[in-house]
Amino acid sequence: MLEAGLHPKRKIGGLTEGQKRRIYDAVCGTLEKMTIAGGRDTEKDFFGRQGGYQTMLSKKTVGKPCPYCGNEIQKASYLGGTVYFCPVCQQI
Ligand SMILES: [Zn+2]
Repeated sequence: MLEAGLHPKRKIGGLTEGQKRRIYDAVCGTLEKMTIAGGRDTEKDFFGRQGGYQTMLSKKTVGKPCPYCGNEIQKASYLGGTVYFCPVCQQI
């Protein structure tokens, strides 16, 4: 999660209490914004309406500049899925 400043492949077991708090707060805040906006802009809701929450890290933003530092958003495979991240703002 970009707001928490941690790489998506970072192991949870090694996080400090402060880092856990940052992730928790970022997840809660982002979910609230997504709910208000009707979901992510990469998905449609149950009724086929496009979500209005503009994702910062997704298939729509890969290769584009990070909103915080301007570095290129990257894509990687992880645990059978895909993760998007900023290699400058989110370090392992
Ligand atoms: Zn960045």
